[in-house]
Amino acid sequence: MDYSGRVNSKKGAGGIASTEESNIYTKKRVQELLATHILDLDNDPYVFRNHLGILECKLCLTTHNNESSYISHLGGRKHHLNLERRRILDEKQNLQLKYQQKIENQISISNVEKRNWNKIGKPIDYKIIKIRDPKTLQIGFLISCKFPKIIIDEPFFTIMSFYELTSKNQNLCIKEITKLKKSENNEEHVEGAEDEVEEDEDDEEYEPTKFQYLIISAEPYDNIAIIIPNKNEIDKPQDENKMSDTYWWYWDKDTKEFYLQFLYKN
Ligand SMILES: [Zn+2]
Repeated sequence: MDYSGRVNSKKGAGGIASTEESNIYTKKRVQELLATHILDLDNDPYVFRNHLGILECKLCLTTHNNESSYISHLGGRKHHLNLERRRILDEKQNLQLKYQQKIENQISISNVEKRNWNKIGKPIDYKIIKIRDPKTLQIGFLISCKFPKIIIDEPFFTIMSFYELTSKNQNLCIKEITKLKKSENNEEHVEGAEDEVEEDEDDEEYEPTKFQYLIISAEPYDNIAIIIPNKNEIDKPQDENKMSDTYWWYWDKDTKEFYLQFLYKN
């Protein structure tokens, strides 16, 4: 039996103890503990009496046939080690809890400021029609899009250059333009035309920076981007938000359909 963990023992003072000596020690220890009145089985959070009437230490997972045995266990090294482990664990958990609460508070603060809605995907019902003014012969587009589940007063739109897009959207647009290029080249093949277009010229035509990007936003739908040509300038009033015969938009509240028309300068 190792006595080095014993109360008041000096290192190296322990020796091999006989069973009798051990028993004497235990009894003495129990008496000491009882005398100090610090033992209160009812208020000890780690002890409980199981259905067989045997005391168990929940901390050390040990069983004790009587109170004396448990009390002597309380003075033992194993129990003290487990108490210390438990204390460190509790401290850790408390710190984690405080840290978590701090983070949760920060999140709830940022939630107040953030616009938050459940996106429902892209609008499914839209048309893009190429148009030509019969008098001026200007060409342009009439775009219509239905937003039956819109939750704001009306959709809004903006026309952006390639450089104004986020890098994520730039990549998406490059993908779409590449698809467009492929499908248009394939059409040429179908018509039987010899494909002798010079690659450089071809690439330049499909250069993403040579397009403009019409973004239409209508919560809770995802924003949509329509890739439009940028060869000629759009014929529109100088002031933003002003309409003209060549440049106008209309939101039909009843049918939830948004229209936008623009023509290019000749
Ligand atoms: Zn214990």
